[in-house]
Amino acid sequence: MSETHARRSHAWRPERFMVVVAHPDDADFGPAATAARWIDEGSTGWLVCCTSGDAGADDWRADPIELAAVREAEQRAAADVVGYAGVGFLHQPDGALANDLALREQLVREIRTFRPDAVLTVDPETLFYGDGGVNHADHRAAGMAAVDAVYPAARNAMAFPWLARDGLEPHVVRRLYLFWSNHPSAWVDVSGTLDRKLDALRAHGSQIRHPERLEPRIREWAREEGEAIGVVAAEAFRVIVIEDDEEEGPTHDTPPETEGAAPGPA
Ligand SMILES: [Zn+2]
Repeated sequence: MSETHARRSHAWRPERFMVVVAHPDDADFGPAATAARWIDEGSTGWLVCCTSGDAGADDWRADPIELAAVREAEQRAAADVVGYAGVGFLHQPDGALANDLALREQLVREIRTFRPDAVLTVDPETLFYGDGGVNHADHRAAGMAAVDAVYPAARNAMAFPWLARDGLEPHVVRRLYLFWSNHPSAWVDVSGTLDRKLDALRAHGSQIRHPERLEPRIREWAREEGEAIGVVAAEAFRVIVIEDDEEEGPTHDTPPETEGAAPGPA
């Protein structure tokens, strides 16, 4: 059976993008290689962690304050590897993240300050990963909070009006890139930056119990996603276009001109 690839690597790139996640390390298990690629190509990225991962230990005697400090330091080191311009921590409670108005206001403040073209976050509709695992409640809450902050709150002048009064003008985020989705619609070729994702992940020393298993697992995930577009490594997203721009070309990825290309390095 000859294999055909109906899709090609997603080509649109935001000038400014913000990644919103629940925990330190989520962004690095998530879209780190895409972030690294976009940054290499000229984008500016900003990372927001809603919690500091203060419940991320196996020992109930662990000090959550100390753990939060360790995990923030790990995430800052990982963010340096990827190349983010900075990291913000919202200091919400790990394991108890709620998509409430307080979190939405925090995220609107972040969005109106950094003013991204695209926000990358967890697909909040992912309750189960296919049939292989449950998506952490904090991940779903962070994803839904980010979606709700993007639309309509960040662009609505009358949402949290004290923000505008303090100089944080409304801002239109044009696209959402949802990762860990069961409904991917775009694949970014990350063959050139997968090693950076691995280096970023290694910075999360407190979370990696079996370092020897990390690399093969991540490479296998990337290989599986890469099959969709015939490259050795990809990251998949469900892309939601909120504001399209005709001059930037097609909204959706178009089929390649040559069909029947074999999978392999691009
Ligand atoms: Zn997490």
